Amino acid sequence: MLGKRILRERTSIEKMIVMYCKAKHGTNTGLCDDCSYLLGYALQRLQHCIFGEAKPVCAKCPIHCYSKVMKDKIIAVMRYAGPRMIYKHPILALLHLSDSFKSKSISWNK
Ligand SMILES: [Zn+2]
Repeated sequence: MLGKRILRERTSIEKMIVMYCKAKHGTNTGLCDDCSYLLGYALQRLQHCIFGEAKPVCAKCPIHCYSKVMKDKIIAVMRYAGPRMIYKHPILALLHLSDSFKSKSISWNK
C-alpha cells in the first residue's frame, strides 16, 4: 500500500524529471532514455523506502539509498526543477516545502 506522501512524491519527481529533460535534453513529449531510466530508478527507490509515510525528504535521508551516480543525477534535476516547481506546480511545491520544514530542513539548493 502506498500512502499519500509517497504518491505525492511520485508525482513531484515525475514532473521535475519531465521539466528537466525538456529543458536540458530538448525532449518534447515523454523522456529521453537517460531520464526515463532515472525516473524508473527514483520511483523504485521511493516504493522501497523503509520509512514509508514517515519518510524524510530524500536530501535529508540518513539512508542515502541512491547510488552515487544516480544521486548526482537526481540532485541536478532537483536543482533545476525545484525552484521552478513553485511557478508551474505551486501546490506540489508547497507541500514539498512543508514536508521539508517538518523534517527541519529544506532539500533544495544545498
Ligand atoms: Zn532527458
